[in-house]
Amino acid sequence: MKVCKFGGSSVADAAQIAKVCDIMMADRERKVVVVSAPGKRSKSDVKVTDMLINCAERALGDFDVSRELDAIVARFSSIVSDLGVASSIAEEIAADLRDRVASDKSDPGEYLDRMKAAGEDNSAKVVAAALRARGAAAVYLNPAKAGMLLEGPPGDAVLCDVSYGFLHDSIERALWQPDNPIVVFPGFFGVNRDGKIATFPRGGSDITGAILASAMKAECYENFTDVDAVYAVDPRVVPDVAHGIREMTYREMRELAYAGFGVFHDEAVMPAFRAGIPINIRNTNHPDLPGTWILPSRRVDECRVVGIASDSDFVHIYVEKYMMNREVGFGRRLLQIFEEEGVSFEHMPTGIDNITIILRGSKFPTSIQGRVMQRIKKELQPDQLVCERDHALIMVVGEGMQHTVGTAARATRALAEAGVNIELINQDASEVSIMFGVRESERARAVNVLYHAFF
Ligand code: ASP
Repeated sequence: MKVCKFGGSSVADAAQIAKVCDIMMADRERKVVVVSAPGKRSKSDVKVTDMLINCAERALGDFDVSRELDAIVARFSSIVSDLGVASSIAEEIAADLRDRVASDKSDPGEYLDRMKAAGEDNSAKVVAAALRARGAAAVYLNPAKAGMLLEGPPGDAVLCDVSYGFLHDSIERALWQPDNPIVVFPGFFGVNRDGKIATFPRGGSDITGAILASAMKAECYENFTDVDAVYAVDPRVVPDVAHGIREMTYREMRELAYAGFGVFHDEAVMPAFRAGIPINIRNTNHPDLPGTWILPSRRVDECRVVGIASDSDFVHIYVEKYMMNREVGFGRRLLQIFEEEGVSFEHMPTGIDNITIILRGSKFPTSIQGRVMQRIKKELQPDQLVCERDHALIMVVGEGMQHTVGTAARATRALAEAGVNIELINQDASEVSIMFGVRESERARAVNVLYHAFF
């Protein structure tokens, strides 16, 4: 069987939900569908989840929310009426939203999660009704009843491992009914030990889909979105690029996601990755296209580099001390300062007498920079200590590098010919990627020339 997940833009209105129904009904192996809350219908539109968060925050601040609530109810009502399904569904949704708004506010985190979950929960009810209206035997399955048990803070919950068995059995039971039903499951939320609704981080419907694919040991996890494929390079950096990636491995995806590939959140698919389930990213608007496959392994003879990713806002902290290589414990003491300050580091290229610590700017705000620099000066007494912001990292990614000589040469030649100064190079023993550090001002040019060198 296949587990499918449809993102917010795929359930944004009735026309999109009709496409979801067609896709689900076109393949009998598609047995489970996870849905997001209705997303944006146009660039200027607002996602239902954001409307719910705004409404919840106002309600927590004791403001009147009748306008906000009406707008959310109207959004669902128009979908229900455009789909032509029973209007009682719109009434049920309106009542559900009113109940949530009026519910206990003593724990703001729990209240917010209860409100956020309304988007996915009601979206699943609408999709199930739409499927039934087209003659499919669809059943809505409630995550709390199905055993999607979560733990951790509101808005950032994680799955309890015992859930896999519960979810498997609940879905099997739901499928074991006359007419071969499709199970419609809301994404993004579950329930904690106290029976309270809890949500994953934003974008968490991808996590739900990966969990269900793993629980059901699905043949594949089809993740439907609004792009034809994962592109080999960010089209905003290299315009007019139509090169979609046909297949990549989980390791390649992880490397690309690390450096800013936004289509898919690598952590979100961890459950599918652990279970070795292939993921197929596809476009709801062009279901005939093959999309991008993310696989446990792939044949690499034909394509060495699968993608080039880049990300900005890196900080370099350069530490130099004569005879550093003989000073036992220098690296540990340096890293300990970052550990004690709660800052995680990204990379640490070293020379004989120097170390550069590379951090993400967002995790190393200027407010703590002074204190950390003072500590390094005092505790390690370096000869030179420099902190520089506005650096970028570029990752050239491809499993095939292990078997190919000259990938680095090709990349560095392209950069040199374009006059881009490489500040650092890093390739670890796994040889899945080569990382280049460049100045932020040179990032776009560097990515462009690298793209043209490899594709
Ligand atoms: N609706 C939620 C969000 O906007 C979860 C999701 O769509 O995956 O973050």
